[in-house]
Amino acid sequence: MAWHLNMDLSTATAWPIPGIHHITAICGDPQRNVDFYVGVLGLRLVKKTVNFDDPSAYHLYYGDGLGSPGTLMTFFAWELPPGVSARARPGAGQVAATAFWIPPRSLDFWASRLAAAGVDFQGPQARFDEVVISLRDPDGLALELVARDGGRLRAPWAEGPVPPEHAIQGFAGAALSLAACRPTARLLSERLGLRPVGSEGSRLRFQVGEGEDAAMIDLLCPSEAGPGRMGIGAVHHIAWRTPSRRQQEAWRRLLLEAGHDVTPIVDRQYFSSIYFREPGGVLFEIATDPPGMTVDEPAAALGAQLKLPPWLEPQRALIEARLPAVRWRPGQSSSPASL
Ligand code: ZN
Repeated sequence: MAWHLNMDLSTATAWPIPGIHHITAICGDPQRNVDFYVGVLGLRLVKKTVNFDDPSAYHLYYGDGLGSPGTLMTFFAWELPPGVSARARPGAGQVAATAFWIPPRSLDFWASRLAAAGVDFQGPQARFDEVVISLRDPDGLALELVARDGGRLRAPWAEGPVPPEHAIQGFAGAALSLAACRPTARLLSERLGLRPVGSEGSRLRFQVGEGEDAAMIDLLCPSEAGPGRMGIGAVHHIAWRTPSRRQQEAWRRLLLEAGHDVTPIVDRQYFSSIYFREPGGVLFEIATDPPGMTVDEPAAALGAQLKLPPWLEPQRALIEARLPAVRWRPGQSSSPASL
């Protein structure tokens, strides 16, 4: 490595983060989002709800057959009046790419599938000891398909448009674009318990979780770009897993003691959450595994109906009247990327 982290293991947490829980991004047209993430990528729409902080907008969750932690990609939909642009600007302090894990034998399948759907992509190209296909979703969000040995698809979606043997296995990881890496590297390794596992050029790699729960978090540093701007086509936050409310409370105390500005615990219906901003500017969340996506609808019916938390049910008629109908339309793969 070009430089050393000079880790002080005495400050390491007692409970290393076991993996990514979910990654949340911002999209435009929610139907186009469904057509891409279900119709092209083959993820299951496992929850159709609203942004609890802005119930006029959808919050869509995609994942494996059960919406397991580690497979959950979610979107806040920003639908703006014609002529109003809220497109993200890539740059420092943002997630530069969100990576999904595919089996190595599936590279040809995915290259053919993306080409057939009219999705531009780059690669496959080598990175570390893996092979990566790079693409963008219809809103310009940077995605990767990473061919990695092993796999962890415990709850395949048998009815999906992608055969289970080629299905996305969950997150392979994410890359953060940073103006300076050292403060974020120290947080990841010394506080959250991620392991530095290598570097390639200006890319520093950390591993979260082990075995089939492992994901790679890459720090791109220093970023050549200026500061990024949040908007459509950007990741809003990365959520890390924690197994229990008790450990979440302990995380909150530990982060507060370390000087981070941490929110109170927030009820997100499918998990509880705390949020804080890492030193490079990316918003982090720590979310509990329980109760999970089946807390308010059975596994077989996930994503079919608009679900609202109890405190928003009294407003259901108003909320439904303002939301466009959105559903997966089998046979409707996607509209090509708009960029
Ligand atoms: Zn979240």
